[in-house]
Amino acid sequence: MDCEEKARLVVDYEAKTARFSRAVTVLQSKMATSLKEEYDRLQRLVDEARVESEGARLALESHISEHGC
Ligand SMILES: [Zn+2]
Repeated sequence: MDCEEKARLVVDYEAKTARFSRAVTVLQSKMATSLKEEYDRLQRLVDEARVESEGARLALESHISEHGC
């Protein structure tokens, strides 16, 4: 079934998931060299990106179950 809203939510979810994995990569690459403050800042960015990507996944899932698409 073609659903524009679903397509939009998928794109949003993929973008946020990609952002999350980029943030994790940056965090891991700087883990050894970062000062504590810098590390904490990156860790916060990772956490925020994870929450956003989880929120986007939930929005997609609830749309699918409500809309049946
Ligand atoms: Zn739909």
